[in-house]
Parts: sequence; C-alpha cells; structure tokens
Amino acid sequence: MQKKILVVGGGIGGLATALACGARGMGVQLIEKKPLFSEVGAGIQLSPNVVRLLEGWGLGPGLDALACFPPLLQVRSAESAALLGQLALGARAVQRYGARYATIARADLHQLLLTAVEAQGTTQLMLNNAMLHASQDSNAVQINSTDGHQRRSNVLIGADGLWSNVRDFVRSDAQPTFTGHLAYRAMVPQAGLPQALRSEVVTAWLGPRFHAVQYPVHGGQWLNVVVIVEGPAPDDRAHWDHEATALDLSTHLKEAATPLQDLVAAIKTWRLWPLNGLPPVRGPQELAFGRIALMGDAAHPMLPYLAQGAGMAIEDAASLAESLSTPGLGDVAALEHYAHTRWRRNARVQVRAQRNGEIFHASGVQRWGRDVAMRVLGQRLLDVPWLYAGG
Ligand SMILES: Cc1cc2nc3c(=O)[nH]c(=O)nc-3n(C[C@H](O)[C@H](O)[C@H](O)COP(=O)(O)OP(=O)(O)OC[C@H]3O[C@@H](n4cnc5c(N)ncnc54)[C@H](O)[C@@H]3O)c2cc1C
Repeated sequence: MQKKILVVGGGIGGLATALACGARGMGVQLIEKKPLFSEVGAGIQLSPNVVRLLEGWGLGPGLDALACFPPLLQVRSAESAALLGQLALGARAVQRYGARYATIARADLHQLLLTAVEAQGTTQLMLNNAMLHASQDSNAVQINSTDGHQRRSNVLIGADGLWSNVRDFVRSDAQPTFTGHLAYRAMVPQAGLPQALRSEVVTAWLGPRFHAVQYPVHGGQWLNVVVIVEGPAPDDRAHWDHEATALDLSTHLKEAATPLQDLVAAIKTWRLWPLNGLPPVRGPQELAFGRIALMGDAAHPMLPYLAQGAGMAIEDAASLAESLSTPGLGDVAALEHYAHTRWRRNARVQVRAQRNGEIFHASGVQRWGRDVAMRVLGQRLLDVPWLYAGG
C-alpha cells in the first residue's frame, strides 16, 4: 500500500519534502496557510552539500537558468573595506566537494521546487489552509485545518517554520526568543547601481556590532544585500517583513567604510526582519515524536550566519524521504531513524552559525584578533569541509 505523508507548510522545507517523498513513490498531501505559494524578498546561498541534493533531484538545469555561481567569497573589514580573506568557490568547490556553490533568490528556489512538485504529480497541494490541531494514535496521525476537513495519514511532517504550530502539539518547551539582531535586506537590479557597486562575488563585510553580506541573484542581474545590526525588536517581532529605509539603517552604520555606506544609500527600499531563535537541538527526541516529525526551521531554526537554514531544511527532506522508504522500517521507526541521522549535524550547524554571529560582530581586541586571524588563515577559516562535503 502506498505510504501517505501529510506535510504542514509549503516553504522551501515543505516543498523539498514533498518532492523527495514523491520521488520515492509516497503520496503527499501538503497544506499551506497562505493563499498563494510565494517566497518574497531575500536571497539564499546554496553550498555544495545542498546543490548536490538539488541536482540529484533533477533541478540542475533549473539552477543553471536561475541561480548564480560566484567564483569567489571575499571577506572585508566593514570599517576600512580592506580585504581580510577569501575563498575560491567556482571550480574549486566542484573539485573539492563535487558540486557548485550557488546563490539564488528565495522566490526562484521556491518556484523551482514548486514546479518540480507539480510536474511529479504525486502531491496534493492545498493553499489557504492552516493546520489548527494535530493528534495521533498507534495507527495514524490526524489533523484539523481551516478548510473544515479532518485528514488522517501515516505520518505528519511539521515544515511550518520558526513559529511552528505542529511543534506546539509535540513540544511545550520551545518558544522562540529574540536574538537582539535585526536583518535589513534588499534586492536591487545591478543595472541601477553605479558600476563600482555592482558585484559578481559573495562579499561579507565584518564590522564591530554589525555585518553585511552581498551577492548576485537572478542570473547575476540583481544584487541581494543583507545588513545585520544589533537593536531592539519591533513590536511585532514574529513579522519578518517590516518596512524600512536606508535612513533607518544608516544610523547603525556610522563606522562603515565608504563603499558599504554608498551601497546602502543607493538602495531606497529595505525590509526589516527581526531574528528570533531557539537553542541548538539537544537530541533526536526534539525531532521525532511517534508519527510526527519536525523539519527545517520548525525543528532547528538557523541564524543566517552560516547561510544554511534552507540548506539544512533541504538535507532534512532528503533524509526523511530516505528513512520513510527504507524497507522493513515502520513509520515510527523511520521517523526515529531520521531524527538520529539528522540531529547532530543540525545542532552543529546551529552552534557554528551562532558563533559566527559573535565573530562577525566582534569589537575591540576581539575584532582586532579576528581580522589578524582572517588575514593569516583566510581560506582555512572560510572553508567548511565537514559541512560542504557532508549531507
Ligand atoms: C536574513 C536571512 C538570510 C538567510 N540566508 C540564508 C542562506 O543564505 N542560505 C540558507 O540556506 N538559508 C538562509 N536563511 C534561512 C532560510 O531562509 C530558512 O531557514 C528556510 O527558508 C526555512 O524554511 P522552512 O521551509 O523550514 O520554513 P519557512 O520558510 O518559514 O516555511 C514555513 C511555511 O509554513 C507555513 N505555515 C506556518 N504555519 C502553518 C500552519 N499552521 N498551517 C499551514 N501552513 C503553515 C508558512 O506560511 C510557510 O510557508 C536565511 C534567513 C535569514 C533570516
């Protein structure tokens, strides 16, 4: 009999789960609370561990058409603009890790996954439908949602993001807290920027108490810029799309070098995303609960300082599909297998991302030590073999 999977959430994690499970012959029902499948704003870096999976799912040509493959990651002082270190991406990533390093607009990656899920034809997609209640017994899991229907299934995957509703039914100890960091993000056509501000590479600007990351998206036509500063949360800290202006941001960037100030000033429209988080995963018991499993940001929200949030959600999806299709493993054992396979790596990435945040914002003596280390060790500090080779 065909295994039936219920997925709550149609973000990058939920769609990747539907695609990976569908490819292994499972029947998927996916409910998404928004009336439209859309991923606005920001860009996403996809390191080789993630591109390898996407290519394995047949999305290589789609990436060729929509993504960029920057030749270089460079790290600069946000105060002086001096080059501190760099890591060759391009051919080196393929040679070392067997896949490319890509940058892509979130909306493009989301559309790529959605088109593939629709073409596969094994997933029933239901929009404008929020899960309200979840329960399980020894035979099945059951949800109620805003369309008034009750659905039963073998397993339920909570892919409903940082403020997960599914998580509320299986964990009472996980309420996201504000990190003290605010992400200002923007995407602009490169043609509208002065020549000196256009770029084909990934650049990270490290400052005291702030940092910025910029890279090309939409096949290189647009530039994605994220500036992360420290400050109080807006009233609605769960909302990730507050309006903001270059003027709001400039008050945080008084110590920034001219090229970074010029870039910020050249972009009129910014969106503000307060960053909230949970402590790193402590064990498999935080990912699987009988017939219910959490994945992506619902399970282990990632701070963006290692650029792996979407990446780990995609790796989770591949692992879930593999566990659920392993012969001889029952549904509950399959989800336990998934949790045991994934929790350490997710926790390690969460911890490393958190530490990067501290390093990127270092001030005083620590900032000085950071810049010296980056100058001396450069590539060795920037490369992450355990992450890029694994998955
Ligand atoms: C500034 C910034 C930069 C980032 N850069 C990168 C990067 O370079 N690389 C990278 O890999 N990651 C990056 N990330 C992280 C990445 O964006 C997220 O980790 C990833 O998108 C999480 O995907 P998800 O599907 O788990 O959750 P989400 O994208 O939050 O999707 C959850 C979905 O569930 C739906 N939903 C919620 N509740 C319900 C309900 N009750 N019923 C039905 N549907 C529901 C929501 O509407 C949503 O569509 C970045 C994040 C930030 C903030």
